[in-house]
Amino acid sequence: MGLFGKGKIFDSVQKVTGAHSYRIQGKSIVCPHCGSDRFEQGSALLNTAGMTFLNLDWANRQATILNCTVCSHVQWFLRPPDMC
Ligand SMILES: [Zn+2]
Repeated sequence: MGLFGKGKIFDSVQKVTGAHSYRIQGKSIVCPHCGSDRFEQGSALLNTAGMTFLNLDWANRQATILNCTVCSHVQWFLRPPDMC
């Protein structure tokens, strides 16, 4: 089972929502590049080579990603932020 075994290279991003504002730890999330507070949310697996080799991708941790809708900068969070 190689990289192309299941035909998945880019499909680790599982869902994308519309543009929203988010908070985490009581603080609004803003893009560090352009200052926008509008993001599309998605999720991605944090694959490790060992777990992939053992065909245990399902056991890898998942991260939330926020994609800035203005400049496309991507931020990663291990804990899902709250949608505002
Ligand atoms: Zn931005």
